Amino acid sequence: MVAKRIPVYVPQPPANAEKYVNHAIRENWIGSSVKDPSVDYLSRLENKFADFCGRSYASAVSSGTTALRLTWEILGIGDGDEVVVPDLTMIAVASTLTQAGGTPVFADVDEFNYCIDPAQIKNLITPRTRAIVAAHSYGQPPDLCALRRVAEDHGIWLVEDAAQGLGAVCAGRPAGGWGHIACFSLYANKLVTAGEGGMLVMDDAALYEQAELKKNHVFQSRRFEHDEIGFNFRLGNLAAAYACASFEELPQNCHVRKKITAAYQTRLAETPGLSFQQRIPDTETNSWMTTLRVGPEYPISRDELAERLDLEYNIETRPFFAPIHRQRPFRALKQRDLPVISPTLARQGLYLPSGAAYSEDSISRVCDAVVEISQLTH
Ligand SMILES: *Cc1c(COP(=O)(O)O)cnc(C)c1O
Repeated sequence: MVAKRIPVYVPQPPANAEKYVNHAIRENWIGSSVKDPSVDYLSRLENKFADFCGRSYASAVSSGTTALRLTWEILGIGDGDEVVVPDLTMIAVASTLTQAGGTPVFADVDEFNYCIDPAQIKNLITPRTRAIVAAHSYGQPPDLCALRRVAEDHGIWLVEDAAQGLGAVCAGRPAGGWGHIACFSLYANKLVTAGEGGMLVMDDAALYEQAELKKNHVFQSRRFEHDEIGFNFRLGNLAAAYACASFEELPQNCHVRKKITAAYQTRLAETPGLSFQQRIPDTETNSWMTTLRVGPEYPISRDELAERLDLEYNIETRPFFAPIHRQRPFRALKQRDLPVISPTLARQGLYLPSGAAYSEDSISRVCDAVVEISQLTH
């Protein structure tokens, strides 16, 4: 008999999701313009993000990707501009920049914490560099103090891609509290979700005003007159209602995920060839996903392990992101000193079933399988 499937991720509907979404439906405020404050989940969600991150402003958008696209637009980054981005992250950071006319410069990640290394970034900065993107990696914040200092020393922007970082902390300050602009995703597997959605947070009033205008076609006070070209990157009130319910469960969600990571690490600590993402001093991960690195001392490769977990044990895993510099649209970019660690991690890394939906039994089953495979193949 085949054991029940353990998917890599299962969304868990928040307790108040139906209540809030139904409220928005009943009161008939479903779009992005909500005139009744008692049912304005969009403003409520924006306030939650701003407060949680200690920022003055938050602006809800349709996805993490559009949050990044809007960021380039409001920072005025485009033709001829370079931005230093992590090589081992989701492609949106580079694709949106390219769409804006800018050029990504790929920074390698640290072998142990999988985040960009501030010391290495300095070598990538040129007179054309306008910004650095600091991405939280599977929940682990990069060294944001150091990155902020590098950005300030060079008079360039620090953009935080905190899509995976909500609830994490660096030097006592929350993820999303560091970048001149920080972007979040509300995608279904993120810590606070609306199924799809995104958020920008910032302190600068002029940038906020630009974000509000440009995400909404630069509508002026005279309806249907536009001084500039904008986008429709708006989020609707139904999605915001769901996300408000999800936000209420963020602390509990982080707590459970940390316990899951601890359980995996304890159980697999003695298995040769396996290693886990390391914490950067003075940071706290939200344990978004528990990652596992399958090194050469493990008897089979990451791909073979993933395949056997899938076919023989009915356990789903996910490989790490592929290095962005090796993806077809970016291969032609000429860059000296291309990243070398990110391709290795991309080949050896996977993430294990993670999320609040898993019982201790599921985690045990995954660990037993990983250990059993390593023993059988000796
Ligand atoms: C999820 C994610 C995004 C994109 O968010 P979407 O809402 O899926 O568009 C961007 N960057 C990182 C690091 C992500 O994890």
